[in-house]
Amino acid sequence: MNHDCHYHPGEAARWHCSECQVHYCSRCLPEADPGSRQALCPKCNKAMKYLGSGNEVVPFWQRLGSFFRYPFHAAPMTVIAICTFVPALMQSAITSIVMGALLSLALLKYNYAVISHTAEGHMMPPPLSMAFGGAGINTVVMQFLVIAAVIAIIMASGMFGGPIVMMLVIAFAVLAMPASIMILAMEQSAGPAINPINLASLIARIGTPYFLLYGYLILLMLASGAAQQFAFAHFPATISQPVSGFLSSTFTLILFHMLGYLLFQYQEELGFVAELQEEDNGPMHDMHHRDRTRRVDADIDMHLKDGHYDRVESILKEQLKRDAHNPARLGQLYKLLMARRDVEQLYQYHPRLLAWLAERNDGEGIDEMISAILEAEPTFRLEDPELAVRCANALYHRKHYKMVLRLLQDFHKRFPDSQEVAPAYLLAAKTLANGMGQWEKASAFLTFIRRRCLTHPLHEQVDTYLAQARQKQPLQGPKASFGIDESGL
Ligand SMILES: [Zn+2]
Ligand SMILES: [Zn+2]
Repeated sequence: MNHDCHYHPGEAARWHCSECQVHYCSRCLPEADPGSRQALCPKCNKAMKYLGSGNEVVPFWQRLGSFFRYPFHAAPMTVIAICTFVPALMQSAITSIVMGALLSLALLKYNYAVISHTAEGHMMPPPLSMAFGGAGINTVVMQFLVIAAVIAIIMASGMFGGPIVMMLVIAFAVLAMPASIMILAMEQSAGPAINPINLASLIARIGTPYFLLYGYLILLMLASGAAQQFAFAHFPATISQPVSGFLSSTFTLILFHMLGYLLFQYQEELGFVAELQEEDNGPMHDMHHRDRTRRVDADIDMHLKDGHYDRVESILKEQLKRDAHNPARLGQLYKLLMARRDVEQLYQYHPRLLAWLAERNDGEGIDEMISAILEAEPTFRLEDPELAVRCANALYHRKHYKMVLRLLQDFHKRFPDSQEVAPAYLLAAKTLANGMGQWEKASAFLTFIRRRCLTHPLHEQVDTYLAQARQKQPLQGPKASFGIDESGL
């Protein structure tokens, strides 16, 4: 019987806590390792039972019939027919060989498309274009690199380790070949596909089914060989050659489809492949840090769905103590506090929340938040001149002109020494002129800049603005110059 996740209906449960009687999906337990099948309950911290992911996907040995039907669809049949019969129709031997080589590449490319297509859960073959289009050709190139590397490794092991070591390496290479193809199809890079650690852990994670699949692969190859032999024994070479090519291509396609299905069936357990790669590139603590972040996200999600808003709030505050300006956490806190209309906390966190909103140019959000605070605390003012100007800018662009003027009120008296006075009053002038059509008041602010902000770079432009205000034109900065002196032209 399959259960859904308690917090994500529609998502199949992977874990069950017998203590709390709660089912969890993998989104609820981002830190859990499905490979080791161990996870602790986020509520009571006790070990949970792993329900597995295989229980939603029919194991491959129960649907062998559909594997054999797989090649008999229009797209794969066309690919196989073109790739096996066209070279045989060629007049000269050379064109036939060249054509044959090119078409085998296309066939191989199509086979790799089959693996990744199946691994994504598509049980119908990929379209024809996957064989003859340009995309995916690098996987084929990588496959040749892998083969070359494996041959080189076998030779080297024979040269430096003697015949016994070489035999062991060959045995491992043969056993790991399907695993290597699977990794190559998913990672599209040769390195991971020959890394013995990757190969061994993939085989270990899949466990017995891998060897079962291996058995089927051998059977398939024997069957294909027998069928080809039959063709050669009973038909002339002109018929038996293409027929045998057709048969082997069909069997190969079934084989690649099976490999893809195994990836699909064990997708959860195999997530490790990509992770293993990341581990090599970055320091371990990065990964732990990311795991912790995902755990916190999952906790927040669960508590929100349980209606434990106080819990969410304290988690967010705790996180913000460690990382004061974490944008994701500030965003979550902003949404939570606004939804709860928690004016007291909004006031307490307003410098950081407003800075976050200003960073995103979210004039709407700034207006809503300041309005909420002002309702409870009509004398509220921003104490940081730079933040006030940034917020006012965002508000101006969303046409919240009253709020702009409110933030910039008495700016020069409150922050007499601030460098922000000039930009603040230019913004006030623009708001009055462009937004509210009050040219005289706008001129008063501009005049203030001209008289009092002599050292600010904006001072140079203030005459342009004043001229525009006199003519009741929208206030716009001087045209951008590209630093070319016209007299020099
Ligand atoms: Zn529990
Ligand atoms: Zn869930």
